[in-house]
Amino acid sequence: MLRLRGVTVRYDRGAHAALDDVSLEIPEGSVTALIGPSGCGKSTLLRLFVALVGPTSGAVEVDDQPVPPPGDERIRRLRRRFGYVIQEGGLFPHLTARANATLQSRKLGLGSADPDARLDELCELCHFDRGLLARYPGELSGGQRQRLAIVRALMHDPEFLLLDEPLGALDPVVRAGLQDELRALFARLAKTVVMVTHDLAEAAFFSEDIVLLRRGRIAQRGPFAAMRESPADEFVEGFLEAQSAREVPS
Ligand code: ADP
Ligand code: MG
Repeated sequence: MLRLRGVTVRYDRGAHAALDDVSLEIPEGSVTALIGPSGCGKSTLLRLFVALVGPTSGAVEVDDQPVPPPGDERIRRLRRRFGYVIQEGGLFPHLTARANATLQSRKLGLGSADPDARLDELCELCHFDRGLLARYPGELSGGQRQRLAIVRALMHDPEFLLLDEPLGALDPVVRAGLQDELRALFARLAKTVVMVTHDLAEAAFFSEDIVLLRRGRIAQRGPFAAMRESPADEFVEGFLEAQSAREVPS
């Protein structure tokens, strides 16, 4: 289980809090969608669990254990438990798709007994054409790059999967296809998934558990239908309205 207890994050100790007294529990085996306007703290919330940023106050816990502060040597072990796809994918442009996929797990000392077999299996699972493994990211389409980033995050078979707008940069047709695939993948993997999106329809498509952030605070949490029927405040109402032009896929 992933948990925040009253977490505030101030970058540079500034007056403005990226996260402001956030408490949140994410149960094991669930898919949670994290949504909200740009700058509301979505990426910051993910970074806390892999200790890329530490809380200014409050506590971050993974399975009831505190996440060590950034720079602590125990972080290595913690990060093995996570697959993390950063915003924009984070692929290395100078490495082939194969090297991109395997680098992280080798660095974490998690070289599977047979990395080639593992890679084959994941390429199939994530619909990434094995014939593309020799290519560089610049030679792949947007959708192929996103698939590769997900393959990479899954290489060491993590317990938790953190996805930061994994479909953000894709055109609508490719995106719709990948949404279907990803949802099926989540169901099949049965991992604890936290997925960031700025699209409410996408959030609703992936999860019954939507966490809507506003300026570093949780504005409302729950299924889409509950938000629509009883929005917590004017912000939620406005956010739903602004997005209502988009159809919520079933
Ligand atoms: P989101 O992912 O929802 O767009 P972020 O978590 O990236 O939001 O950012 C939340 C707030 O923190 C924003 O105001 C952003 O400008 C600020 N912020 C994010 N990262 C940093 C950083 N490394 N240094 C200073 N401020 C940051
Ligand atoms: Mg972000």
